[in-house]
Amino acid sequence: MTELQKILDTADHGICEISAEGVCTFVNVAAAKLLGYVPADLAGKSFHTTVHHHRADGRVYPEGDCPIQRALRGGYADRVAEDVFWHKQGHAVTVTYAIAPIEDGAAQPAAVLTFTECTEPGRMASELRRMADALAEADRRRTEFVATLAHELRNPLAPVRNGLELIRKAGNDPAAVAEVRDMMARQIGQLVRLINDLLDIARVSSGRMKIVREAVSLQSLVTAATETNAELLKQSQLELRLRMPAEPIMMMADATRLIQVFNNLLDNAAKYTPAGGLITVTVTQDESQARVAFVDSGVGIAAHSLGAVFDMFARVGLSAMGTQEGLGIGLNLVRRLVELHGGSVSAQSEGVNRGSAFVVTLPLTPLDAHVNPVIRKALAADVEGSVKVLVVDDNVDAAETLSSLLASDHRITRVANDGREALRAVGEFRPDIVFLDIGMPGIDGYQVARAIREMPGIGQPMLVALTGWGTADDRERSRTAGFDRHLTKPADFSVIDQLLSGLAGARDG
Ligand code: ADP
Repeated sequence: MTELQKILDTADHGICEISAEGVCTFVNVAAAKLLGYVPADLAGKSFHTTVHHHRADGRVYPEGDCPIQRALRGGYADRVAEDVFWHKQGHAVTVTYAIAPIEDGAAQPAAVLTFTECTEPGRMASELRRMADALAEADRRRTEFVATLAHELRNPLAPVRNGLELIRKAGNDPAAVAEVRDMMARQIGQLVRLINDLLDIARVSSGRMKIVREAVSLQSLVTAATETNAELLKQSQLELRLRMPAEPIMMMADATRLIQVFNNLLDNAAKYTPAGGLITVTVTQDESQARVAFVDSGVGIAAHSLGAVFDMFARVGLSAMGTQEGLGIGLNLVRRLVELHGGSVSAQSEGVNRGSAFVVTLPLTPLDAHVNPVIRKALAADVEGSVKVLVVDDNVDAAETLSSLLASDHRITRVANDGREALRAVGEFRPDIVFLDIGMPGIDGYQVARAIREMPGIGQPMLVALTGWGTADDRERSRTAGFDRHLTKPADFSVIDQLLSGLAGARDG
């Protein structure tokens, strides 16, 4: 026994020299004792098959997966880990260990393994080490985030500043000013989008993003997104094909957030598809899930980048214009919003210039799971005796207060704040009576009434105009638009109640 070996035998730590083949060529007393042996028992034996043959959960530990073996075979990265070694008596001993090469110039150098039993303080130390590593990683990402963000915010700011200078120089030339103004509006639009996305990501991350579920048809959300993007698609000379089943796919979802998801995916499809390309949006459904697929014929995504596109700040290729724009947070937000709905989103591509497909999958849970009882009743096919009331007013407070006043055990109310929303609600909610404000921006009450009267197969509701205008002419106008009643604001609540009781009575009778 050499002097050195004698010294090693006095150490508290287990120390083994392991050959390139994994055989113990030296084992100190502490190492052997910890595992129930004397050093001579282990010398010349395979370390793995003698003391490291099973994992902590009792499953066999294949030698190829063993980090000690891997470290021996290549790279010789030092490793510290918590693991179990097996005692001669058959029980597991939890240890932390490190393995390091003995650099003595040999072609197949040996390694030294040091280990100690993992006591509670030892475990805490390794947990602290793990936490420190995680914090360092988080810090690294944050620094990277700030750098990328500063860069992305500066990008649109530079042309805006140039624009101001150009306007100053343009003096009284209105054409030049108009051109610069359009450019500035575009750049500021990009800034606003960026900041909104960032705020939304922050909201999701801190758990402040609230998903407000309501009964919606998936098709109406996809249609809304395609309408928002129609102009962009036209400008980019892209053809859009929309394939959706006629039967509405009803689900409880946050309409605003899902439209945002679909908008984002459409916007990307447009951004990453050259002029003349095709974008196909397909909605399908099976028993438990609905799927919305956005398939484009654009620049595609390289196979090795597919896994990364949903990561924060992932920008894996160039846009259709050959530029690199955007912060790489849109898809991350898409994934988070879809996951908040219990769904998932995936990306596929055959490769660069072979187009991309993004598929959003949303669960169709039994509506009971989420819905507040009032909406659930409204959705049930058979709502015994309940009168369904839709209140439409662009004044949100007015609509909400009337709706609350009208809600009762025998009535189910729903609110819409503009004409478009009202028409969607009539299709989905099938109200018995609609209180409809006349003066609304966009589609006004008369137009809504006419459109409702032309809707096929909905079981026509009673239409009540609720308006500030009460002259004979106004009443005549609302009658020709299809209203059954005309009430002036503020309407006498007892009149409204009478109308509703009449309806309930007619149903019961
Ligand atoms: P960005 O703002 O950069 O578009 P996203 O998070 O929306 O950020 O997308 C991340 C990256 O994924 C993009 O930079 C782009 O490289 C890639 N990508 C997203 N959508 C598509 C698509 N339809 N076709 C090809 N690449 C895409």
